Amino acid sequence: MKNAYIEIDKERCKACGLCISACPQGIIRFSSEFNSKGYHPAEPNDPEAKCTGCGFCYMMCPDVCITVYRAVKV
Ligand code: SF4
Ligand code: SF4
Repeated sequence: MKNAYIEIDKERCKACGLCISACPQGIIRFSSEFNSKGYHPAEPNDPEAKCTGCGFCYMMCPDVCITVYRAVKV
């Protein structure tokens, strides 16, 4: 089970790349596809489940496109 993962609203993303630079795990990249504004939006690429849920990507995004999900230990 993944401990954490992110979702990116690709239609709101303007491909500034700040989240890609901010991610310590290097698990965000630009999509090869276009969104409706003509940008290549950022997308998570985390096949090894390395996302820690640190939230740096969320904090950096000027357009609040990113949602971070973390497993809660009970
Ligand atoms: S929450 Fe942290 S580790 Fe996960 S994608 Fe964002 S910056 Fe990377
Ligand atoms: S920081 Fe936000 S707007 Fe910039 S590339 Fe990442 S998701 Fe897109």
